[in-house]
Amino acid sequence: MSIITRFAPSPTGYLHLGHAASALFSAKQAGPNGRFLLRIEDIDQTRCRPEYLEAIYEDLAWLGLEWETPVRVQSDHFTDYQAILDRLSDMELLYPCFCTRKDIQAEIARIDNAPHGPDGALYPGTCRHCSVTERQDRIAAGESYALRLDMTAAIRRVGKELTWFDRAAGQQVATPEIFGDVVLARKDTPTSYHISVTHDDDLQGISLVTRGEDLFFASHLHRLLQELLGYDVPEYHHHRLLTGPDGKRFAKRDKSKTLRSMREEGLPSVAVIKQATLS
Ligand code: GLU
Repeated sequence: MSIITRFAPSPTGYLHLGHAASALFSAKQAGPNGRFLLRIEDIDQTRCRPEYLEAIYEDLAWLGLEWETPVRVQSDHFTDYQAILDRLSDMELLYPCFCTRKDIQAEIARIDNAPHGPDGALYPGTCRHCSVTERQDRIAAGESYALRLDMTAAIRRVGKELTWFDRAAGQQVATPEIFGDVVLARKDTPTSYHISVTHDDDLQGISLVTRGEDLFFASHLHRLLQELLGYDVPEYHHHRLLTGPDGKRFAKRDKSKTLRSMREEGLPSVAVIKQATLS
């Protein structure tokens, strides 16, 4: 079976050398007989801009990459993600959370040794205990809310140990509980990275998910979502992150290191490809 990989950038800034490394790595894993897809992850419409989207296509083409068209652009598919949220809701695995950031911080401050996960302190579960009537009343009153996964209920529903395989780190036992009751949708973004990425990887038949090791832990949660939604389980390869001469990861805010600026300075793409090749 041929390998299908994808590079899935968000148009929230210009691509940098770290993105080039990730895109080239993904295309290389697909190899000459596989398929390499590009997917635009623009669910956060408040941060995405058309000029960044245009630059993604230009920069990747400059690196000599070729991808299949049409490209899946996530903002065209909010109804798909809503349908997934509806399925999880029908399984009684989601609940509305009305807490503001401040409410959550205050609640966490009251707890001794509040548990932490990969994204910081875990949600203390305040709204999990709301009654059905309270939920209905607050929603009817127009209060804004996020949808959270009831992690304990989700794990109970799956009822067995889940595993996944990473080509760099080996066999993993999934530990989605490290995320607690994670947010799966917000009012301003009626989906989440976790929902959209898991859904699209399955829909597009991605057989090898390649991405930076900063997203390693997210795969524990994605494995749980795959099981709940009856999705195929891809292999993973979380690659090391490229760092600059100062040992720091490249960041979108670091304007001097963008592929666009390198291109404009007249740097040949072969030199950039060399710098961006992950061993
Ligand atoms: N869209 C994510 C990012 O730009 C990458 C998601 C993924 O590869 O799973 O960081």
